[in-house]
Amino acid sequence: MKQSILILFFALGCFAFDFSIYNKLDDIERYLTTLDSCKGRVKSRLESIGTTYEGRSINMITMSTNARAPYCGCKKKAILVECGIHSREFISIAFCLYFMDFLKNTQTGIQLVKKFDWYLIPVLNPDGYVYSMNVERLWRKNRNPFNETCVGTDLNRNFGMEWDPANGGSDDPCNLFSYSGPQSFSELESQAARDVIVNRGIDFVGYLGVHAFGQMWIYPWGYTFDLVPDDATLAKCAQIATAAATSRNGIPYTYGKVTDFFPTIGGLAVDYAKSAGIKFSYEIELRDNGTFGHLLPEDQIIPTSEETTDAIVAWADCVCAEIAS
Ligand SMILES: [Zn+2]
Repeated sequence: MKQSILILFFALGCFAFDFSIYNKLDDIERYLTTLDSCKGRVKSRLESIGTTYEGRSINMITMSTNARAPYCGCKKKAILVECGIHSREFISIAFCLYFMDFLKNTQTGIQLVKKFDWYLIPVLNPDGYVYSMNVERLWRKNRNPFNETCVGTDLNRNFGMEWDPANGGSDDPCNLFSYSGPQSFSELESQAARDVIVNRGIDFVGYLGVHAFGQMWIYPWGYTFDLVPDDATLAKCAQIATAAATSRNGIPYTYGKVTDFFPTIGGLAVDYAKSAGIKFSYEIELRDNGTFGHLLPEDQIIPTSEETTDAIVAWADCVCAEIAS
């Protein structure tokens, strides 16, 4: 009897999560735990990669298969998907959860896991997410206090690649949007991401930092107008990705260097990933184009996730072809 209840629990745990709403952190963590318990051809493993100022776990899910023969090149490589670095970008987190289910439970997803090992950080900034859900909807930074009145660092200005508050960031801790922190990697969340990228010996070939909004795929550099040496290759795979996204629902996505769309910015996660040797490093800006902005209605979660999943499938094929050639 006990065993059958347990099996039922696991079965429900695999499919009972509601991907069409912006879930609370507690519910997300429950889902991650049950996902970890799900049986299937894709193995997943939940682990904590760090602890925030307010004591929350930063979780990462790893997905892999026992596929013996690598599909791309001579050695199976890994892709890191990082979501929720900016807490008000709820669609980023919702997408990550949808995408994990896709990898685990669909034929196309399982094929992707045969090609690459996937490392997914669904909520890099959990303190900010809880604060944004409960107190201040448009909160963007983490919740590490600088002093009694000024709280939070923009984690996507805090990475150690050309970190510079004077270059698209801010040295004012009270700046609500772009405070770069007192120094590079001053924050527990950016440290946790850095340690995954460089300190574990994982052979990453792809990094996708998922944000909103703007409907675009952008790639390094962000800190300078200079081109990366493989600009044409990064552009090619971005073009393929955004074409796939656009064709799903007719919502236009575009692509280019960070500086095609923004002023130069120092300390970006995507620049750090690229500088750490992850060839195919991108930041994805999900829906919308500014109509709702960060307040994207829940009825757009599934279509946004579907078109972005199509984009990543196409992009992964491009990456695979590039590294195998
Ligand atoms: Zn963002």
